[in-house]
This record gives sequence, C-alpha cells and structure tokens, in this order.
Amino acid sequence: MGPSSNQQSNAFSKFYVISSEANNDLKLTSPILIHKTILALVGDVKSIKKLNNGNLLIEVLNSKQAENLIKLEKIGNIQVKASPHHTLNHSKGVVSESEFQRDLEEDLLDCLKNQNVIVVKRITLKRNGQNFPTKHLILTFNNPTLPKSVKIAYINCPVKPYIPDPIRCFKCQKFGHTITACRSNKENCARCSLPDHNSQTCKSTTPKCFNCSGEHPSFSRSCPRYKLEKEIQTIKITKKIISRSPTDCNGQNPKTRYFIFLCIKFFSYTSSSSKQSPNSTITTHCHKKYICFSYNIKSN
Ligand SMILES: [Zn+2]
Ligand SMILES: [Zn+2]
Ligand SMILES: [Zn+2]
Repeated sequence: MGPSSNQQSNAFSKFYVISSEANNDLKLTSPILIHKTILALVGDVKSIKKLNNGNLLIEVLNSKQAENLIKLEKIGNIQVKASPHHTLNHSKGVVSESEFQRDLEEDLLDCLKNQNVIVVKRITLKRNGQNFPTKHLILTFNNPTLPKSVKIAYINCPVKPYIPDPIRCFKCQKFGHTITACRSNKENCARCSLPDHNSQTCKSTTPKCFNCSGEHPSFSRSCPRYKLEKEIQTIKITKKIISRSPTDCNGQNPKTRYFIFLCIKFFSYTSSSSKQSPNSTITTHCHKKYICFSYNIKSN
C-alpha cells in the first residue's frame, strides 16, 4: 500500500456472516454444497469458515464479491442471509500528537473522514473524580487493516494499534467479564480479596490480590495477572484473534507454583514465544486451533 491509499475512501466490508433462519441448518450442510453455491454466485472468495454456532464467516476479495454475497438468499434449500461482521470490518488505532491537544473530536473527524475514519475519541484520565483530556486519540477505521499513518491538517501522524485495558469485574475481581455479566453470588474485596465487603469499607492492613495472591490490590497495574491479560489483549488484536475460548483451562499447585492456562481460539498464529520478568514467566505456544498461555509465578 502506497501513501496515497490513505487519502481515498475505498473501504468496503471484507468479512460477512451467513446465517440461516432456523438456527442449526447450516451446521449440517455439506461444505461441498456451500462451496459450490458461493463459487457460482460470488466467485472464488478469500476464505470460508464454519463458526461454532453453524454460521459461515466469509472473507471477500473485492467490492464486486461483497455486492454479490449480500444478494445470497439460499444454500441448497436453506433460506440464508449475509450481513457484514460487526467487528472484523473495523480496526482501532491511537494517534498521540500534542499539537491537537485542544482540538474538538468533531473537528478532528472532519479532517479524517476521507481516510476511512468513522469515529474519533479522545482518551481522558480520571483524577479526583475529574476528567482530564490527554493527547491520545482513538481512531476507528472503516477497514480491518490499520494504516501506518494518517494526515491531520499538514501533520503526518503515526498510528499505533489500540489495545484496550483488560476487563476486570468490580464485584468478583476476575478478569474477562463486567459486573453486569457476573455470575458469582458473592462480592470480593478489591483490596484484600476477602468476601462480603468492598474496598471502601476494607479494614485490612495488607493488600492481597484476588487473582494472583500477591501483596497488592486486585486493581494494581503491577499485578502479573493483569500484565498477562494485557499481553493476551495485545496478541488478540495484533494477530486478529476472534474470541477467547469459553473453556479457559485453569490449574494450580499451591505448594510450589501457580499456573494459569488460557486458551484462545485463533485464526492464524504462527510463532511461539516466552517472556520473562523477575518473578514470572509467560509462555505462549500453539495447540491445534488454540494458543495456550501458560503463566507461572515463581514461589518465594
Ligand atoms: Zn464477576
Ligand atoms: Zn478488604
Ligand atoms: Zn495480582
């Protein structure tokens, strides 16, 4: 891609979901019939995948294929409909340029509209209950591939991938869900990790993390488990992983080591890596369709 590709709006949705009216119909449909139907109506698309719920995920190569795919109504005698995937067609990046510190989000969006940007959101910091604007802008692109840079007025701004903070439940303190989706029936204190009170009323003198048992509150950013979750977010976004597997595997040996295994279903992941910090090791490796993160906190 040349620098001029930033200037034109050539975006079209590349990822589509094909679903049937009755839920499990496509699950039982032969891949041969699916392939033949797609070939005849749309052509040779980039990829076809059957999702766990039976729906099909199609990646098209160009706008003509996208146009034709939207017209798909039947596979064999099953009534189907194709619609753009709700997250895969977008990407989010961060621009950090202090020159635009005082500009409004809508004025920035106006400058960026012709570069596939659909939303501009400034990151704010909360201090003593007050919000302070930062120089960091989150840009949402109507394109799954993040550009290397954007041009705002006459300034060329590099774009970095946006990695959201891991979600931690304020009720049970576990990662991966919010308080509204919490299925735990007791509240754990974010400071001392004990049940039935919260951090505001906590009387404990030493903090203890619910997630790693370390001597810090569960909301600490130096928590090794928080860092692992952040690492997972980074891999999820940079490697375009769709979702975490519903069955995260957990295991622990309280005597010597504490292991957490997290399995993430992934699209394409080829490397295996290991990161070491003074008291923990994070290893990632491939296992069939999953990446396993094994996480080991050394005992003292
Ligand atoms: Zn929870
Ligand atoms: Zn407490
Ligand atoms: Zn911790």
